[in-house]
Amino acid sequence: MTPLEFDARHLWHPYTNVAKPGPMHLITEAEGVWLTRDDGVRMIDAMSSWWCAIHGHRHPAITSAMAEQLGRMPHVMFGGLTHTPAIELGRKLVAMLPEGLDRTFYCDSGSVSVEVALKMAVQYHKARGRDGKVGFATIRGGYHGDTWKAMSVCDPVNGMHGLFRGALSIQHFVPRPPVAFGAPWPEDPAQNGLAPLAQLLAEQGEAIAALILEPVVQGAGGMYFYHPEWLRGARALCEAHDVLVIFDEIATGFGRTGEMFAMDHAGIAPDILCLGKALTGGHISFAATVATAEVARTIGESAAGVFMHGPTYMANPLACAAGCASLGLLETGAWRAQVAAIAQQMQAELAPARDLPGVADVRVLGAIGVIEMTAPVDPTIAHRLAPQTGVWLRPFARNIYAMPPFTITPQELSRVTSAMVALAGGVA
Ligand code: PLP
Repeated sequence: MTPLEFDARHLWHPYTNVAKPGPMHLITEAEGVWLTRDDGVRMIDAMSSWWCAIHGHRHPAITSAMAEQLGRMPHVMFGGLTHTPAIELGRKLVAMLPEGLDRTFYCDSGSVSVEVALKMAVQYHKARGRDGKVGFATIRGGYHGDTWKAMSVCDPVNGMHGLFRGALSIQHFVPRPPVAFGAPWPEDPAQNGLAPLAQLLAEQGEAIAALILEPVVQGAGGMYFYHPEWLRGARALCEAHDVLVIFDEIATGFGRTGEMFAMDHAGIAPDILCLGKALTGGHISFAATVATAEVARTIGESAAGVFMHGPTYMANPLACAAGCASLGLLETGAWRAQVAAIAQQMQAELAPARDLPGVADVRVLGAIGVIEMTAPVDPTIAHRLAPQTGVWLRPFARNIYAMPPFTITPQELSRVTSAMVALAGGVA
């Protein structure tokens, strides 16, 4: 059996049919924006391997920090012990986050970071004697991960987890903010989409622990960019109803939207923030849930005292070292001009797709470019074409999209946008 035959017969891949596996590429090397197949074929990773590889793959600053840490201490438990990589990463996070968000809980993946945030919100309210606040409000079309509670705050009707509907706890959904990023903001709540949230909180606020959402960009739920002003209004409504706000910046964090965090477009901060993906620049799985001092202190001063969560590999030193190196690269500030240039080039080069039949919309925000089709796109078409175009794309639902590493050159980016436009033309 060849390696690919073994893979097709014995391994699961994410959101891939085991009965009809489709094309698969055996990748043996990744460097910068390039992925290399076992037969030497090279493809640009236009997905940054699902938002992660912002500095490109195998960045020397990150691999050397990890190698150094590997030689010293690959892992040690975090209960009762601490270590310099965790402390240094915490220092960097606190320095780059809005004031007040200053208590970091490290975890292994984005979904777990969402679980931790939801648990923190419930425990915070319990600590204040508000035992009934156990539900969550969220926006339709959102995506927060694949674990049980995270699935319950994804859209059960239109989202990926509808299959599990009867098994998921029921949460409170408000319609997607109707005003797009960059559109004029109507002050009337009936028009700007804040009215349904106001009504929900007025009616059910007593039973709601937190509002969880992806600020400004709904990713896997449709690559939709909405108006930051909605976030400011939502924040104020939540404060009025004693409902915490959780921002899921797992996809958008660390420069992707043109600001360090998507919430910076609105100039506000949540009570709890979920980070992941690009935290290690795509070098190792890692995530963090950052709470305000108020949330942490309230839990700490409660009868329970401790926050009831503690992953075995919490604060893994290798991952912390990767995170420190990745944030160190962001601290140089070079990302801002890189992302702005990517945005400008994608705006120009994706624009012709607007005239193609079957294209519903073309939009760009920061280093995220989207061609939205009127019908779902079969991702296997892109997978088959990748060796010819030299561009790795993984369309999802109706969207052909790219979020390349910030280090991509203009020539490489042109290959990506050409492949996207060609794909849109081909599947239209
Ligand atoms: N939240 C958002 C916004 C995401 O985009 C994702 C993953 O795509 C997650 C949570 C889940 O992260 P992970 O896949 O690391 O569990």
